[in-house]
Amino acid sequence: MAEEEIASRAVTDAEATRFQRDFPCLQQEAHGSPLVYLDSAATSQKPQPVIDTIKRFYETSYSNVHRGAHLLSERATDAYEGARSRVARYINAADSREIVFVRGATEAINLVAASYGRANFGPGDEILLTEMEHHSNIVPWQLVAEQTGAELKVVPITDDGELMMERVDELLGERTKMVGVAHVSNALGTVNPLKVLVEKAHANGTPVMVDGCQAAPRLAVDVQELGCDFYAFSGHKLYGPSGIGVLYGRQDLLEAMPPYQGGGEMIRRVTFDHTTYAGAPAKFEAGTPNIAGPVGLHVAMDYVADIGLEAIFAHERDLLDYATEAIQQIDGVRLIGTADDKAGILSFVFEGVHPHDIGTILDNQGIAVRTGHHCAQPVMDRFQVSATTRASFGLYNTREDVDAFIKGLHEVKAILG
Ligand code: PMP
Repeated sequence: MAEEEIASRAVTDAEATRFQRDFPCLQQEAHGSPLVYLDSAATSQKPQPVIDTIKRFYETSYSNVHRGAHLLSERATDAYEGARSRVARYINAADSREIVFVRGATEAINLVAASYGRANFGPGDEILLTEMEHHSNIVPWQLVAEQTGAELKVVPITDDGELMMERVDELLGERTKMVGVAHVSNALGTVNPLKVLVEKAHANGTPVMVDGCQAAPRLAVDVQELGCDFYAFSGHKLYGPSGIGVLYGRQDLLEAMPPYQGGGEMIRRVTFDHTTYAGAPAKFEAGTPNIAGPVGLHVAMDYVADIGLEAIFAHERDLLDYATEAIQQIDGVRLIGTADDKAGILSFVFEGVHPHDIGTILDNQGIAVRTGHHCAQPVMDRFQVSATTRASFGLYNTREDVDAFIKGLHEVKAILG
């Protein structure tokens, strides 16, 4: 099927069933039932082409990058740098030098907080975050705030789990030196109005760091259109390997930022008196990097792009609507996160039942969900719950998976309700 044709509509259930066959880890039973994997927001499974490419890379082209004057090093460097160009294309960065390979979104945000933050924040400066951030877009800023005397400010969220946009203008001030915001909330599913937020921040002269961890696998991200200054995501949620992630940074900002870690690869000239640094992105990639990671991520991005991000988003959204409708028929269920603009993430609590018990009973039926605070404890505090159960969808899920999940919840009710 032509790429454009499939991208113009949602992936159908029949197609999702076909895609499922590309994922070997999904072809098994769990506790005697067919595995139903509803935990893609935590991490996604890997399609065969990603697994095969990584294996083949180690078998035929593995070497260190940027160093050796030999064939294998040349092959490895080409593959590594080819992946950088692929990533730039995936998020429509203006230049592949704006792509820094890191371990994951967590490291990307720590890099910006430590490098940009230490160089630019001072006592009384403010970092504006939102109440729905993942801990990895809170704690790095707290660390740099402690070191620099800066303070955190927080955009609150509504009962539906949407940002109170009307509060942004009053919270953005002369002292606001950074805005940190999730593109899509991992705990609520909310898709944030990023463009508006970026415009507001920029009108105030403030750069924006976007945590795109949950967006990159399911939304067509265009960093130039969004206008953001930094954008972070992890390969493992995007059907690629773990241990590899991406920091996009505007070139002028990256060039002006001091290194994050020191070591090999990030220097121009070293003496005991003085060291000069390479330009970005090498300046931020000290030491031997994860070499096979970007190679796997490249193929994962091809896989996703072939299906089409619009088609994936529409499919996951269809599953979300289908599941939301069904779960609301069950007595005692309270949804956490009911924003209008939502991605395929369904968080809920069941009156009188601990999420861990729900998770265990579902697991016994082969259904994998996530339970806990989802590294978003401020969200749990906002909704006055200690934890939720979260079902999250990927391109390989089907309505049949949702049916199994809903049936599983009825079983939970029969056992514990
Ligand atoms: N931000 C969000 C919104 C996430 O969902 C996650 C992963 N749960 C992270 C950041 C952190 O990603 P990683 O652990 O891959 O660095």
